[in-house]
Amino acid sequence: MKKKNVLSVKNLSKNYSKNNSEPINALKNLNLDVQQGEIFGLLGPNGAGKSTFINILGGTVIKSEGSVNVWGYDIDKDPRQVRASLGIVPQEVNLDPFFNPRRLLELQAGMYGVKKADRITDEILKLVSLENNADSYARSLSGGMKRRLLIAKALVHKPPILILDEPTAGVDVELRKNLWDNVKLLNNIGVTIILTTHYLIEAEQMCDRIGILNQGNIVALDTTKNLLNKIQTKIVTFTINEKTKIDNIPLNSLKIISQNENQITVSYEKNSLKIDEIISHFLKKNINILDISTDDADIEDVYTNLTKN
Ligand code: ADP
Repeated sequence: MKKKNVLSVKNLSKNYSKNNSEPINALKNLNLDVQQGEIFGLLGPNGAGKSTFINILGGTVIKSEGSVNVWGYDIDKDPRQVRASLGIVPQEVNLDPFFNPRRLLELQAGMYGVKKADRITDEILKLVSLENNADSYARSLSGGMKRRLLIAKALVHKPPILILDEPTAGVDVELRKNLWDNVKLLNNIGVTIILTTHYLIEAEQMCDRIGILNQGNIVALDTTKNLLNKIQTKIVTFTINEKTKIDNIPLNSLKIISQNENQITVSYEKNSLKIDEIISHFLKKNINILDISTDDADIEDVYTNLTKN
């Protein structure tokens, strides 16, 4: 079954013009779809255009060209419906220190025109595991709790799409995990998630699909699995039973990266060599293999390849 697109971006461009200087093309002809129910990661180095993109969706930056459709609504024709369909969790923690979570959510709901009877404040507090802190001053919450409160704030009008801009920046490892668990939970109940992050490993673990932005262009857009499969270079370490110095292994694409004591690490291209051929080579030379470990490609390899300028 073909999944429904909940965000559809066509030929989107943004030029920031400054008085006397050349305009900056922050986004260049961007094309991008996000499907209902997925966790979509937008990655890219500083200056790639991620914030510009999110700010266009949020209505704080006006696009120069192209079209943006959110949940079936055109951003030019129905900006209010677009706003109602999105929950945006900002990068900066900007909470009034003397408000408690419950009051903050009630106020936010009021701002979105959610009637008292339709508010789901307690449900949201529970979703982000803040039900026991509902009445504590925001200033007394930990960093992780404050982040979760920001997520809660973005949920008051029950948006079907949640956008998280660097949700774990400055959050320590333990709390990051907790935050991601909350995001997964929201996704499980049907919320489509779009996020930006600098933590590539987290993107790899969290996202169904990933788009990589570089200098205003989408340089990769695929499922996380396919992106990882595109990496052709394999790195393998063999532990052998003797301290032999191996100078050369005459196999297609194989390079010796390092060797010490009884270990040798090699790289090879998946499409020109199979690991069996390396193993048979060792056996032919009467070298016994005690152990093999492979270092699988991760999203960082894909990212580095595509964003080096
Ligand atoms: P990212 O979020 O990926 O770091 P940004 O969207 O912030 O990227 O920036 C993309 C480009 O647009 C950068 O070259 C940045 O300097 C420029 N830019 C961003 N905001 C403005 C602005 N308000 N005025 C002028 N240039 C801007």
